[in-house]
Amino acid sequence: MKYISTRGNAPELDFENVLLAGLATDGGLYVPKELPEYSLDEIRSWRGLPYSELAFKIIKPFVGGAIEDDVLAKMLDETYAGFGHKAVAPLAQIDSSEYVLELFQGPTLAFKDFALQLLGRLLDHVLVKRNERAVIIGATSGDTGSAAIEGCKHSDHVDIFIMHPHNRVSEVQRKQMTTIKGDNVFNIAVEGNFDDCQRMVKACFADQDFLRGERRLVAVNSINWARIMAQIVYYFYASLNLGGPDREVALSVPTGNFGDIFAGYLAHKMGLPVKQLIVATNKNDILHRAISQNKYEKHPLAHTLSPSMDIVVSSNFERLLFDVYGRDGAALASLMDRMNSETVEFDKDGMAKVREMFDSHAVNDEVTCETIKQVYDETGYLLDPHTAIGVKAARECRRDATVPMITLGTAHPVKFAEAIEKAGLETPQLPHHLLDLFEREERYEVMENELSNLQNFVVKTVFGD
Ligand SMILES: *Cc1c(COP(=O)(O)O)cnc(C)c1O
Repeated sequence: MKYISTRGNAPELDFENVLLAGLATDGGLYVPKELPEYSLDEIRSWRGLPYSELAFKIIKPFVGGAIEDDVLAKMLDETYAGFGHKAVAPLAQIDSSEYVLELFQGPTLAFKDFALQLLGRLLDHVLVKRNERAVIIGATSGDTGSAAIEGCKHSDHVDIFIMHPHNRVSEVQRKQMTTIKGDNVFNIAVEGNFDDCQRMVKACFADQDFLRGERRLVAVNSINWARIMAQIVYYFYASLNLGGPDREVALSVPTGNFGDIFAGYLAHKMGLPVKQLIVATNKNDILHRAISQNKYEKHPLAHTLSPSMDIVVSSNFERLLFDVYGRDGAALASLMDRMNSETVEFDKDGMAKVREMFDSHAVNDEVTCETIKQVYDETGYLLDPHTAIGVKAARECRRDATVPMITLGTAHPVKFAEAIEKAGLETPQLPHHLLDLFEREERYEVMENELSNLQNFVVKTVFGD
């Protein structure tokens, strides 16, 4: 399997190099050159497979021989054996034909574990093989950080630096990152917002000379293809558990950077019958405006009760636009340039096609809390604020009541106490493996919003000078 850049001007890479690359050298994102496609018969033959075996079927062609089959199979077994539910991604029913796909059974209680538990293992395998060491620098508004650290803490081959905006992540989220023990784990609280953190990450990737050519910089945010790849699996899994592929499903996805829902779009392109994909956003609704009004315009960041979806721009949308523009890298490169500085309207026919599959809806904090309360009253089931946005959007945008509607449950409600309390409900207990979280010792640096401080800290830590 070969991977190409969305901006058409970077080398084609194989899986191993795409795993280590992050952003392409032309500023684009890597996507598979061709997708595997499956017939209904083939998909049907996967019914009843345990999660990790289904993951093997779906991931194997993307890895393209870079990892031997038995090693990959074992890696996937180990990855998903660490989840807190035997089904790995169980479905909970909240109405006659409405479900929540619980993607929060992993160690850090958010869906990012699905990809990052695997990413840590993939990186280790590849780095050992190449006898290399890598540095990870990532930015988080909360969930990515803990999932990335949890996924890489055992690695002897990476040093991991995660920045979060100081005092802007929930207490549970911060403690989940800062109490993880590991000589190779470094948390940095930046005196700024999430965008400031992300800007510094981008600057580090754009000029890696500070690592003296001795270390490779690896991305853990969803620009890394391996994250998207791992997320394709649970779309197939959910469908197969509800009568797929002989029955369509509809999917509502709480969205920030468009990574998760892009994986759903790929699952559909690979042959999974999907009736509709719903982009559910909070007040940071650039994607909702792009899809419903064909207007791509940046608004200032709004801090909401669903902080993991607080974004100004949505980086993975570029991967969808690549298809909208007929996979024309040059056209996309000039479009992306314009999108940086001005309000953009996309190709009308292309967007009409997007709307055949995608619907969108934005939900504010007040309605988020109302939805948490409403679903709790109707069922006794407690939604986290991100999932609640998905459920609300699902109910607003549903096209066909006979098609099962699945909302992706992206986080466990215990991570977001503020929203649960505002909904007038009690936060649940932490799961067993986190019961003593509040007593654990925290370790993090507070740092000015200044690139040179970050780079000096990384250099000092990695090279000892
Ligand atoms: C990261 C995250 C999202 C958004 O996912 P994207 O792939 O960026 O769209 C939604 N909900 C939760 C809980 C998250 O952690």
